[in-house]
Amino acid sequence: MWLIRGSRGARPLRPAGGGWPGAVLFDRDGTLVHDVPYNGDPDLVVPVPGARWAVDALRAEGVALGVVTNQSGVGRGLLDRRAVLAVADRIERLLGPFDVWAVCPHAPADGCRCRKPAPGLVEGAAAELGVDPARAVVVGDRASDVEAAEAAGATGLLVRPGGPDLRAVVAGLVGRR
Ligand SMILES: [Mg+2]
Ligand SMILES: [Zn+2]
Repeated sequence: MWLIRGSRGARPLRPAGGGWPGAVLFDRDGTLVHDVPYNGDPDLVVPVPGARWAVDALRAEGVALGVVTNQSGVGRGLLDRRAVLAVADRIERLLGPFDVWAVCPHAPADGCRCRKPAPGLVEGAAAELGVDPARAVVVGDRASDVEAAEAAGATGLLVRPGGPDLRAVVAGLVGRR
């Protein structure tokens, strides 16, 4: 697992303890940005509608933000770390800073503990943020995102075409705080 401290890492978060969730961990492809398979090109990054609003609303509440993303293109030899970081940099430029990025660079056959639906990315990101996984929410577009959340003791929420979109899911979270 690659654990990359986001560009907001130096900025102190509000003290944990107030409100739920303490952290929201977003899947990347198909959740924050449109899914371009094995994308390593920053120019192809396009946020989904409402993404900037969603992350800003959570930042305003003092919620720690992370990204938990499977990038099997690395394990398959289609991407390298530099490309993954270049895409992350573009996403932060478009959506603002995240506190941590947790990336699984393995191929499915590697049998690692971080590739979702395994819990490693969620556990690693929560630990890096100092947030109990029970106070973390994972937002994703696939069942494996929810399964990874639940395996880590966190809560998983799905965004779906025709179902709740990112804006609706995050509005629900903000409304509960
Ligand atoms: Mg996805
Ligand atoms: Zn992995």
